[in-house]
Amino acid sequence: MDLIVTHIGADFDALASLVAAKKIYPKALAVLAGSPDKDVREYLYKKPHLIDLKKEKEVDFKKVKRLIVVDTRLAKRIGEAKEALNNRGLILHFYDHHPRTKGDLVGAVDIGGRYGATATILVELIKKKRIKISTEEATLLALGIYEDTGSFTFPSTTPADLKAASYLITKGANLNMVSDFIRRELTKNQVKLLNKLLRLEKRIKINGIEIAIIKLKSSGYITDLVATVHRLRDIENLETIFVLLETKERIRIVARSRIKAVNVGKITQAFGGGGHATAASATIRGMELREVEKKLIEVLKSKVTPEIAPDESLLFKKNVGSLLNRNLPSKITSLLAEAGRIAEEKNFRVYLVGGFVRDLLLGVENFDVDLVVEGDGISFARYLVRRAGGKVTAHKRFGTAVATLPGGIKVDIVTARKEFYEFPAALPTVKEGSLREDLYRRDFTINAMAVRLNPKHYGELVDFFGGWKDLKERIVKVLHNESFIEDPTRIFRAIRFQGRYGFSMDRNTERLVKDALRLKIFRRLSKQRLREEIIAILSEPQPKNAILRLDKFRILKLIHPKIRLSQEIKKDLQIVKTIFSRFASLLKEEDGKRWIVHFLILVQKLSILEVKNLCNNFRLSREQSRKIVKGKENLREIIKKLKESELKPSFLYRTLQGLPVEALLFIVLKVRNRLIEKRVYQYLTKMRKVRIRTTGDKLKKMGYKQGPLFKKILQELLWAKLDGIVKSPSSETKFVFDNFPKD
Ligand code: ATP
Repeated sequence: MDLIVTHIGADFDALASLVAAKKIYPKALAVLAGSPDKDVREYLYKKPHLIDLKKEKEVDFKKVKRLIVVDTRLAKRIGEAKEALNNRGLILHFYDHHPRTKGDLVGAVDIGGRYGATATILVELIKKKRIKISTEEATLLALGIYEDTGSFTFPSTTPADLKAASYLITKGANLNMVSDFIRRELTKNQVKLLNKLLRLEKRIKINGIEIAIIKLKSSGYITDLVATVHRLRDIENLETIFVLLETKERIRIVARSRIKAVNVGKITQAFGGGGHATAASATIRGMELREVEKKLIEVLKSKVTPEIAPDESLLFKKNVGSLLNRNLPSKITSLLAEAGRIAEEKNFRVYLVGGFVRDLLLGVENFDVDLVVEGDGISFARYLVRRAGGKVTAHKRFGTAVATLPGGIKVDIVTARKEFYEFPAALPTVKEGSLREDLYRRDFTINAMAVRLNPKHYGELVDFFGGWKDLKERIVKVLHNESFIEDPTRIFRAIRFQGRYGFSMDRNTERLVKDALRLKIFRRLSKQRLREEIIAILSEPQPKNAILRLDKFRILKLIHPKIRLSQEIKKDLQIVKTIFSRFASLLKEEDGKRWIVHFLILVQKLSILEVKNLCNNFRLSREQSRKIVKGKENLREIIKKLKESELKPSFLYRTLQGLPVEALLFIVLKVRNRLIEKRVYQYLTKMRKVRIRTTGDKLKKMGYKQGPLFKKILQELLWAKLDGIVKSPSSETKFVFDNFPKD
């Protein structure tokens, strides 16, 4: 029997080579070992008839006489087919473009060498042997070549790859399909370069159109420049970009545009270059970089045609006034109405914004009132307090204020940052203006809606970015493609909202998260901010889904590489909410922190030392660290003691004394035993509060000398009281005299 195999974790080049090899060895069986790449799986799922693939368990490897291996030469990478290597007289054929390494097997047929992809080698053979291929096969082979050569931008690309691709296109390869499936991972070099470009990128606005300009100098040729510029354009969603690259004695302009208003072909002509409206370049000698930039801006000013005004249909016409009245307590609705009246009198505009609006529309309780004022937010806050009572804390520099009103209502007030123009108050819609700018700075469409409060427009929903639609479709979506680069904490926020409301990210947002993570974006974030975001997620009543997402994006590992989401941890996260509900009153009373219990669940398999280091690393406060460490120390012994069938109350007390509520809840969770739960409950609700009447002063009066003995007496007295041995003050005195005779 002949068998074709490739490496485990097959990518497109591997799969394409497998399919091509089957064309060359039609009688051979083909096996896909292990689980292929995610994209490859998706592809195979869409094209199940492409090739007859056998599973490993369907093949009797002992019967293999000839083994054809594509895209690897390493025995350890071919999965169970390795067994066949022991067969007597086995013939090996290799087709592999990887540079030879030490552990490589050698075949009777062994083709490799300078090729960017293994698929290229097989396409050459197919061509030579005049084997017919279908358009689907051509597409897959092209996909393999495009993938492994980074769309012909990797330095390993050879003319043979390009030739093979061009042959495949004549055979009907579908390039749309290729671009749909091509992997978008960046090489290390590209990541470095991309970071540099991001740093150097500058935006200017010309005739209302934003244009990105990057100036850079280099002593030599920059590999991957154009491909990286394209990625930058995608990540940043740039419509027009000019890269001015200065090398030894010349400056090269690389220009790309996706909009009609900027025709880069025409613009580069002014520099003696040219190209298309969408992609062009020019080479300039004898000018300084700064001069070139200056000239470019002048040319742009004369050649860029202004855009049409933004589409106002984005403004959703909906009034949520009745929802406000129905869903909110009257003390809040009357406050909102008052806020609207004040704004009207002072010629301001005031809006409810952010999470408050989101939760109002979702019907979720949220009393954190966030207001945006077009006008002067601080004086607005003062007027509000003058009417409603309370006090104001203002931050002049930021134009923000917090008004704390009677009844503990807290109102955050922000001044819309852009210059405020006073529109006639009766204007029916909100035009491009300061509110829009404010909302555009926010994180997600669902958090970027506003509700007007001025009386004539009370309750009108302002929705520039489709937040209402996304809320209905349960989607978390960023407002623009730079969002996560601008503020990486938004990745955590996205995951938190997703988990809390059971939403999902839209495809683009998810892709942007992945891109940002690939750029190691969290390196830019201080440990403190990272900690706050993690705490925010772990403070959610049910963070399990968010934690699963963190794991999926491999962010959990950034917290500590040893955190693994085992079945046990998943189960704990599931169950803990019922424990919280049974101990709910305590969590409020004692200021117990839910997040610490969740944290203890996550780090349960780490050693104490590792956890201590983790606490230090994330700059947790001493109190936070203490609680966490207490939740790990001596856990086994404590649980063992708690399990004893006969337990004196004082013994229970002494076992649990000093343990924070969070550690106790963690214990309850881990032992899952009703008796122990009852004991802990009893300790927390009753025993902890037991006090004796006897004091140090009293002991003095009783004739005892002050000293270490006092502590001992008082302690034993308390234990005796817990055990029911002493009850009344007089029995306390008796107990002391009986047990601590004065000599
Ligand atoms: P929660 O219910 O968790 O408090 P929230 O949306 O009210 O959610 P806050 O942190 O109070 O969260 O933020 C209030 C509003 O401020 C958000 O709704 C959002 O519009 C904006 N916002 C908060 N953090 C960011 C951020 N990192 N980037 C952009 N906008 C943000």
